[in-house]
Formats: sequence, structure tokens, C-alpha cells
Amino acid sequence: MTASPRFVTDRLVDHHCHGLVQRDLDRTGFESLLNEGAVGSSGISLFDSMLGIAVRRWCGPLLGLDAQASPDVYLARRAELGSADVNARLVSAAGVSDFIVDTGFVPEPLCEPSELAALGEGAAHEVVRLETTAEALLAEGVAPDAFAARLVERLRGSGAVGAKSIAAYRIGLALPPVKPTDEDLVSALGEVASDRSDPVRLAHPVVNAYLAWTAIEQGMPLQFHVGYGDNDVDLLDCDPLRLTPFLRATRTYEVPVLLLHNYPFHRNAAYLAQVFDHVYMDVGLAVHNTGAFSDAIIRESMELVPFGKMLYSSDAFGLAELYYLGSLLFRRGLSSALERLVNDGDLGAGEAERIAAMIGAENSRRVYGLPEPG
Ligand SMILES: [Zn+2]
Repeated sequence: MTASPRFVTDRLVDHHCHGLVQRDLDRTGFESLLNEGAVGSSGISLFDSMLGIAVRRWCGPLLGLDAQASPDVYLARRAELGSADVNARLVSAAGVSDFIVDTGFVPEPLCEPSELAALGEGAAHEVVRLETTAEALLAEGVAPDAFAARLVERLRGSGAVGAKSIAAYRIGLALPPVKPTDEDLVSALGEVASDRSDPVRLAHPVVNAYLAWTAIEQGMPLQFHVGYGDNDVDLLDCDPLRLTPFLRATRTYEVPVLLLHNYPFHRNAAYLAQVFDHVYMDVGLAVHNTGAFSDAIIRESMELVPFGKMLYSSDAFGLAELYYLGSLLFRRGLSSALERLVNDGDLGAGEAERIAAMIGAENSRRVYGLPEPG
């Protein structure tokens, strides 16, 4: 895969990402942000992975290095330039017109969505994280019987283009096919209060389900973390098929439900997007993590997903490399799948261009109601 991709979206909509880390990073800091797993005492470097290879291959040249510069040379050059310069080079090269930023996960200081978008000369939008919103209400001392109304108020006032559930990280994806009652919510919040960690970490089957149902009732496009994530996820409970009863029950609301990442269950997600009218999918985080092999994951998703149901996201967090790699590898993987269809006579070149534009930008623009770029 060295030739330039033939069928690419002019500028992508990144429908799920996070803020950038702006501090300068040493090797440990860099590697701990390189993926969601912790760097342990094994001494095994993440540079020796598909992601590590991709960083050197694709990001090195944007920093003025050879494509195969060693990790030490890469990190030395990164430090020499400083994070501000590196962030500007890599984010602007991603070719993204709209950044939809999940602002609910901030384990360390991150830039604002507007600062991220300014680096890419794009527009910033926000997705509000349901669990973070609910945890803030509890920390503010909102009483259980006032919680439901305050939650709706907070979501409506957020200005966000969608909501995100991290039920996968907390209770798994087997959400109920009916919204828990307000009485159930009040008693569940009582249990949360009696078992209170500091800070509050909401992991209650009734409360997390209530949050997801509330977003649907409010008509907010609802993102779910699905599949692969950090070691906080119990991956066995994160197969999107576990959402089937919830998806069947919510389809009459006609509110888009967006399944994020999905790896290694991306084929299951593609199936759900095919059979439920309101379900969409991406392969987010899996793309940069699998580097040059990500084309296979993109192609496998396309086996079944209607092309109007597939979106682009980087799920980049912290490191500018991840915004650039997500975009570059996705463009290459999508183009190589479409090129194969065109070369085999299955698809005309004009159709391939139209599909690339749908998946790369137009589907997200429609789902989230984004204005056309100026
Ligand atoms: Zn994310």
C-alpha cells in the first residue's frame, strides 16, 4: 500500500475524538498515550507494534524524519520541536473539517474542542458523556428524586450534538428493552449513595440504563463505546449483539444509535446496522491500533454494512499522531476496498467517489445535523 489512495473524501468528519495533550512528553508519557493499555514493568515497547510502526512510517516524515527513523530519533525530534509545533503539523495534516469531541473523559488537562478544531482549520462540536454528567450531578449533591429532571435539564442545556454512553465500561451492553421507572431510579441512586466511592463512579444496571434511555427520549444521537478499549473493559460483555433488545426497543424513536470501534466484533456491528434502521457503526480506535493491517477491518465491516450507515472516527486521545494516523489509514483502507471493486468491474469510479464521500463525511453530517463546511 504505497500508492496514493484513489477514492478519498476531501475532508473527513471525525465523529468521535477527544482533546489533545498540550504538555511536552517524555518517552513514558508518549508510550502511555499511544494506546489505552498501561505501560508496565515488562520493558516491552509499544513501538514494536502495528501502531508503533505506523507512527514512524507516517508521522516521522511530517516531523522531517525518514519513514523508518528509530523510536529514540523520533522522540528526540518530537521533543526538539515541542508539542505545540507537533500538534499543529499532525492535526492540520489529518484533513478533517469537523471534530466531534467527547468532552467527558479528562484524566489530565486536554485542549478545548475549539483549540483542536483551530489546528485543523475545522469546526468543533461536542458530545456529552452521560455517566460524567450524572456523576457531576451526584457530586453536586442533587437528591435522588430531583435527579431525573436535572439530568434532562443538563443534557438539553449542553449544546451537544449527541450523547455518549460508556455502559460497556461499567455494566456491559445488555441494556434492558424498557426504560427503568423513576421509582427504580430513585431507589438505585439510594444504593449508589450508600456505596459511594470518591469520586463517584457510576456502575449500576438501573442508573446506566436510565441514562441511555433518557438520551434516546431527548432525541440525542447516542454513541456507545463497543468492543475494544482499555483494560477497564470486560470485553466479553461488550459484544454489540448484547445491545439487540435495546436496539429493537428503541427503533420506533428513530434516534440514531452509533456503535463506536466495535473491534473485534465489527462484523456483528455491521449486521446490526443492516437490520436496524437507526443503527450506525464505525471502526474508530481499531484503525490506528492495527496500522497497516486496518484495511482488512474496514473491508470486513463493508461486507454487510449499508454504506449510508458507516462513519469515520479516529477516537484520537491526547497524541496528535492518532488524529493523523486515524484519518490517513482510514482513507487508505476505504480507498483500497473501493479500488478493488472498481478494478473488478463491480462498481464505477463515480460510484466509488460517491461512497467515499458518504462514509467519510456526509453520513455524519446528516446524523448529527452538522452545517455544511463554510
Ligand atoms: Zn473515545
